[in-house]
Amino acid sequence: MHISELNNSISTLPGIGPSKQALFARLNIFTISDLLQFYPRDYEDRTQKSTIAQSMQSQTGKVHTIAQIVGHEWFGYGKMKTLKLIVTDGSGMVELVAFNRPFMEKTHPVGQIAALTAKCEVKYGKYQSTSFELEKLSDGGELSSFTGIEVPNSKVFPIYPLTEGLTNKILSKTIQAAFKQFSLGLENDLPPQIIERRHLLSKKDAIRQIHFPKTLSEAIGARNTLVFEELFLFQKTLAERAIAHRGKLPKIEVDTAENTQKQFSEEEFAATLSTRQKQLLERLPYKLTSDQMSVIALMNEDIDRNYGFGDFERNSGKEMSEPASLNPQFSMRTLLQGDVGSGKTLVSFFAALRVIDYGGQVALMAPTELLARQHAENAAKQLEAVSVSVAYLTGNIKTKGRDNLLAALKNGDINLVIGTHALFSKNVQYHDLALAIIDEQHRFGVMQRSAILDKGRTSVVATDKYAQPPFREPNLLMMSATPIPQTLALTVFGDLDVRTIHTMPQGRKPVTTYLSKAGNERNAYEAVRKELNAGHQAYFVYPAIEGNLDSGEFGTDSFGKQSLKSAEESFNFLQTQVYPNFKCALIHSKIDEEEQNRILQDFRENKIQVLVATTVVEVGVDVPNATCMVIEQADRFGLAALHQLRGRVGRGNAQSYCFLIYRANITENGISRMKALHETTDGFKIAEEDLRLRGPGEITGTAQSGDLEFKIANLARDEKLMLEARKEAFSMLKSEGDLQKR
Ligand code: ADP
Ligand code: MG
Repeated sequence: MHISELNNSISTLPGIGPSKQALFARLNIFTISDLLQFYPRDYEDRTQKSTIAQSMQSQTGKVHTIAQIVGHEWFGYGKMKTLKLIVTDGSGMVELVAFNRPFMEKTHPVGQIAALTAKCEVKYGKYQSTSFELEKLSDGGELSSFTGIEVPNSKVFPIYPLTEGLTNKILSKTIQAAFKQFSLGLENDLPPQIIERRHLLSKKDAIRQIHFPKTLSEAIGARNTLVFEELFLFQKTLAERAIAHRGKLPKIEVDTAENTQKQFSEEEFAATLSTRQKQLLERLPYKLTSDQMSVIALMNEDIDRNYGFGDFERNSGKEMSEPASLNPQFSMRTLLQGDVGSGKTLVSFFAALRVIDYGGQVALMAPTELLARQHAENAAKQLEAVSVSVAYLTGNIKTKGRDNLLAALKNGDINLVIGTHALFSKNVQYHDLALAIIDEQHRFGVMQRSAILDKGRTSVVATDKYAQPPFREPNLLMMSATPIPQTLALTVFGDLDVRTIHTMPQGRKPVTTYLSKAGNERNAYEAVRKELNAGHQAYFVYPAIEGNLDSGEFGTDSFGKQSLKSAEESFNFLQTQVYPNFKCALIHSKIDEEEQNRILQDFRENKIQVLVATTVVEVGVDVPNATCMVIEQADRFGLAALHQLRGRVGRGNAQSYCFLIYRANITENGISRMKALHETTDGFKIAEEDLRLRGPGEITGTAQSGDLEFKIANLARDEKLMLEARKEAFSMLKSEGDLQKR
């Protein structure tokens, strides 16, 4: 039997009645399988004797010894009357304060010799313990006759995550009973050759040693086995999913800091382009970076495969516009990461053109209306010139022309539609959705990928021709400027191909970041004035829209109630007191959407020089002439948000500046964030630091999704094992596949 098959209720175990059962349920323990896989969170090592004197000397206060009761004392009155047991182990004395345990006067009378385990400290000049265990060894006799005898119960004690009413003892006893009864036929979940090669334990031994280790190293060995097993099975599932969708395994190692991506020369690259892609390239006023070229070429390969063309067919001169025989086995699943400003949008346009040249439709989703609108305008400018029909689908249902637009999407008149999540709402039907692009995908939390893929399955062409399985799946391109640390890339996104743009377009200079304490804003204001005088533009960002209401996003810090600087008030101040000669404007989420777009347009056209904003400008906004980003009360923002905000400047060839103004009573964590931003502009380093400061769940928004809820593995701690488990799982699947092919 596998452990997961032990589905009997724990109520069959001795001592587990309905009330105990309810307590176990609070720990999500219902079955024997749950119980045996309820692992200790820590251990207490009681294998070493520690006398009272030693515990004082080492200052640990930890006593594990054989002692004799030499006196009883009482203190307090009435209900508060409390017993003190005075004990000695020959090396020293300690007072055991027995709160609420007056009965110990009888169970541990003077003269008794007992095993003592206690945590002691000096209090009121005396060596005391309020947390202790005594186990009787003899009613009397000489303490000296116990010298040299091992302290009974010298074991490693597991410490479980508990709930009120359940103790470590009860858990241990119950698990022991379950283990006795059910462990006999326990099968391994790991393949035998992997257990052998990696010197792991059998499942049965691992379960025994994780719960009842004789030594700490036994516990560590058990943990190693179970962590590896968990990660291996996880990676195997990911790999199987990838094979089912795409007929191939993703790369083993995610391409992060090092440049390991296949590179293409300009000629090689040009040779991979389709008609519209070539036309776009010719119209560009600049050269693509080599990473942009490499990512585009690799995506071309993927999309061709989706359309049933391998390199061979294409090179042999087959017409691209010919109806393609679809290969439902394979569709592109790419996560494109590249730091803010690295030019991802353009890359996604190239992917769109590839699909459009094949006759398919493309949907590009952005997290905000503002950004969607910017993309739509950008696409209209760059792509309509290469005969692409572009549409912008707003979430606003009342918009005129929406019905026409939906009809045009359905009959295929629109090639590329851009919008927010409204793109995938119920009433939208596509003619032939073949590529979904998700910009700033981290902003969507864990995306409902299946909802998007369903849009492809239910598009007109798909329901006509591919109503029967295997269904046709659209290609998927997810983009993020928040680089994903390796561990996460291997987990949440482990079934995708991660592709990276490492280098910025030529001529970019890293943004210079200055930190200053609230009170010294003036310096920043003056520095900005110089830039404005030189013809550049600036953003000012604030944590609140209006008034002094604390939105409480970071509400747990010790000064959560402190007033926040608001964009509205600061706008008035900046316009009238600081920059009366420049045009300032205010933008935030409460302003009407049309108005927001107008303001941004004016900013883009330099009719506005100073844009006072909230985090609505956090993602995507692209105005290369802006060279200053001032963030007030910057310590109110998370690291990722600050990095994104800073990424709004430094998008042209001019030197840009970021001013982070932090509050006087900044927290430790806040200081770490400011330092990280000051020290680096590298998004990867910032993401790693963010992971360290916040933990993984919060970053991906997957904390509640179940994706990252490992029973025993810990992403921060077990990163190395994750990679090894991935290698083992992939190579196993590969060799199984090879066997089948023969
Ligand atoms: P992000 O990766 O943050 O989405 P964008 O796609 O918004 O970046 O690109 C940032 C700016 O860089 C845009 O103004 C874009 O036109 C410009 N850009 C993109 N590729 C290049 C390139 N190869 N050379 C110069 N500028 C480029
Ligand atoms: Mg972008």
